[in-house]
Amino acid sequence: MFKITNFNKYVSTIKNKAVHSLNNLFERSPKHDYILLSKVEKQPLNNLSPDSWAIAAGSVSFSSVRVGKKSDPNFVRDITTFYDVNNRPIQKCFWGSNTKYKQRNYEYNDAVTTTLEDAKIKNIIIKSCPIHKHRYPLGTNLKLLSLCGYWNKESENMLCVTQNDSGKKLSIFKSIYNGIDNKSVSVTEYPWVKKNSAKKDDLKFISFDLKRNNHSLSVENFKKSKNVDDIKMDQYFPYRFLNPNEKKQELPYLFLQRYGLGNMCITVDANSHKVSSDAYAHFSSNDRAIRWSTTQPKKKSIVNIAAHEAEHAYQHKQMGRLTKGSDNYESDCWHKFGPITNDEERKEASKYLKASKIYPLKSDPDYAKKHDSNYLEIKSAQAGFKAQKEYSIGQAQLKTIFPYFPVDINMF
Ligand SMILES: [Zn+2]
Repeated sequence: MFKITNFNKYVSTIKNKAVHSLNNLFERSPKHDYILLSKVEKQPLNNLSPDSWAIAAGSVSFSSVRVGKKSDPNFVRDITTFYDVNNRPIQKCFWGSNTKYKQRNYEYNDAVTTTLEDAKIKNIIIKSCPIHKHRYPLGTNLKLLSLCGYWNKESENMLCVTQNDSGKKLSIFKSIYNGIDNKSVSVTEYPWVKKNSAKKDDLKFISFDLKRNNHSLSVENFKKSKNVDDIKMDQYFPYRFLNPNEKKQELPYLFLQRYGLGNMCITVDANSHKVSSDAYAHFSSNDRAIRWSTTQPKKKSIVNIAAHEAEHAYQHKQMGRLTKGSDNYESDCWHKFGPITNDEERKEASKYLKASKIYPLKSDPDYAKKHDSNYLEIKSAQAGFKAQKEYSIGQAQLKTIFPYFPVDINMF
């Protein structure tokens, strides 16, 4: 549990004051046991040893310290910190004796300066600093690992400070990874810390375990503080607490499962270079894949796109059942689900088939217009919109309970 005494430490992080790297060490041993063995002052990246850490994306400088222990001459810890152009730490890398490689990434949301009208408080400034912690297996090639994108996340924190003339408020989203299919999630809102007042209200929080089993997510051990009203647990509830990449990975399966397509070996790729630059995602029947672009969607919500692409998978299922299939996926659907017996469904599938035959090529000068007016796209757009509408109800409820997260982060 995050203690209120840590408040100032994190406020100072968010205020872009570099937190001394040593802070991260004093978790188990007494402070006076540590000695500074060597120190590399902050300097440009080209002075970094080529055998050193993979360079943090967006960094321009680094510093490094080596620390030992008085009580243990074999103990050594190296901490390398990478800084962005504004001199803020964006990554801290830990290495040493008897430990795994660890990495903490700090992201800053500079643009977030919002007035919350609902809260009836003026001059509110929100700054947030998500922190992601990663742990690497001992003795691995870090450069290769970070290139391949393999890492184990230990935790993700998002700390948001809301300020007005008379005080500050801290809201924290935290998820701790207890294994690949299990994490503990908590959302906590701390009472206002007023300038001239020691009066404290109660904490507001929800917490639970988020479990994943074959792409089905569930919530266990749900707890909440008394000042939180009952939360309507809709089907999207567990997904609201995933980070954007995890949402891209898991949400399509929710919709695929609705269509009985959970076991059709459709893969989901959360970041693929195979998606054309004008699209956020696509479904490929040939490859049995829903692929997302590497750019994070801004104009449409992830849930909308996930439902849209799953709808395409359903359309190809139905076309397969109508025609015995024009590719492996469609013919597997034919074998698994058999012919369509319902008249309405068959009529609808015929429309899909007709639309698929006039689906425009990218090279068509009228591509955009023909794409948007194609029946397959119209139906997918409807499915996406419907899912987004369903999703937004529970999202609004959580945003009302925890109103101090920045609007542009699109929480929950
Ligand atoms: Zn589409």
